[in-house]
Amino acid sequence: MTTTHDFWLAGRRANGDSDFEVRHPFDDSLVGKVSVPTDAQVEEAVAAAAAAAPVFAATPAHIRAAALDHVVKRLTERSEEVARLITAENGKPVKWARGEVGRAISVFRWAAEEARRTNGETMRLDTDPGGVGRFAVVRKFPRGVVLGIAPFNFPLNLVAHKVAPAIAVGAPIILKPAPATPISALVLGEILAETDLPAGSWSILPVPNEKMPALVQDDRLPVISFTGSDKVGYQIMDSVPRKHVTLELGGNAAAVVLADWSSEADIEWAASRIATFSNYSAGQSCIAVQRVIADASVYDALVEKVVAKVQAQVTGNPSDEATDVGPLVDENAAKRVESWVEDAVAKGAKVLTGGTREGAAYAPTVLAELPADAILATAEVFGPVLSLHKVDGVDEAFAAVNDSKYGLQAGVFTHDLQTAFRAHRELQVGGVIIGDAPSYRADQMPYGGVKDSGVGREGVKYAMGDFTYERVLVLTGI
Ligand code: NAD
Repeated sequence: MTTTHDFWLAGRRANGDSDFEVRHPFDDSLVGKVSVPTDAQVEEAVAAAAAAAPVFAATPAHIRAAALDHVVKRLTERSEEVARLITAENGKPVKWARGEVGRAISVFRWAAEEARRTNGETMRLDTDPGGVGRFAVVRKFPRGVVLGIAPFNFPLNLVAHKVAPAIAVGAPIILKPAPATPISALVLGEILAETDLPAGSWSILPVPNEKMPALVQDDRLPVISFTGSDKVGYQIMDSVPRKHVTLELGGNAAAVVLADWSSEADIEWAASRIATFSNYSAGQSCIAVQRVIADASVYDALVEKVVAKVQAQVTGNPSDEATDVGPLVDENAAKRVESWVEDAVAKGAKVLTGGTREGAAYAPTVLAELPADAILATAEVFGPVLSLHKVDGVDEAFAAVNDSKYGLQAGVFTHDLQTAFRAHRELQVGGVIIGDAPSYRADQMPYGGVKDSGVGREGVKYAMGDFTYERVLVLTGI
């Protein structure tokens, strides 16, 4: 019998009067059905969250931290089950799904730690004559209820990046998971329901996309934390200019391999990291390697190894332990990638490996000589496709990285400290990774983009900053 998953309304299980199916991207089997909240239930959740805002803000830190600790414990206990679920609804190979669960656990662990840290600072004001006899206390207070909107590609960890910091600061959250992958978030709800968090402080609602604009507009939800495509993200931001909106959007991340990264071991490491991180999650990561920008002196050796390593990747059933690359989220996504590669080839690109599709699976693909007018040269592919670019020297390499409307992270393979600092100064991105692919992310780091890659930062402490504001208390004559 198929399970129909309830949603979570103000911390309680609930179901609506309709449901939708979640299917396995690999074999189209039914993973489960998910109940859809009615308009009245969404209203109930929003009203409960708004009512809970002052209560939650006043909830002692030890209670919030204990709830976060509980999630760490229970997600750890249920990690294999949740990893299998991520694989089933997203198609991510199980070994990567386990990694995602591990990261989500660390997000909750960081949030528990941050919730216990000192809040704010005191500030001397006697630096000017008018401030003599005064000082200030600066504390952070929640801005209000957070509307968290999550994408499909990390169905647990990117949900964790919204829920955990909200709990840590005492801000109620209404979490809207992606339609393709809502069940991982609903299972997280089972764990949250075991905690003592106040009623109304959290809801997980699989609201249909067409009902989202009304929720986005709702004045009782002053903070919107969105992760997803730039198209939807900027549409949201433009529609609510007075709200506090953070956008974690797309990218076409570059891995730069410079002339000094030239020993056999260097090339081996760079090729291996590039091959792995252009195809992990079938390229459906906002920091998957999409562009390789290599100095002419190392280009040929690198290309040979990258192609060999991409060809050696095991594709197929994501539930198999050996699988490196599974299907995309659905067949339409794979067809879009296919059409973009066809467009590139028609305009002159060379396929060094891959370039084929079977259902929702697209073969890991390496392209050379990608013309500037190909869609793939500027858009985010969000699939297992890599393009190789030959440059001369650091100036050209960094200019190529910056020649993008996106700016999330960049990887730079160099041993030179000066070049590393130069990359940090000059690359228009939110993060520069030296000696590795751009896809490295630790969940406590500030993470986010510039240009069309977004506004604001995740990373537990930084998201907590976005969910709060500083309120100053000036004391006179004390
Ligand atoms: P998407 O923009 O299609 O959907 C994201 C979320 O927005 C989903 O929950 C969706 O249901 C919801 N949504 C759709 N229409 C909406 C509307 N009108 N109002 C409010 N919400 C709406 O993105 P996706 O396909 O799920 O995810 C892929 C994108 O996410 C890629 O561009 C990827 O780069 C980006 N991403 C960014 C990061 C980051 O941290 N920067 C991380 C992961 C993914």
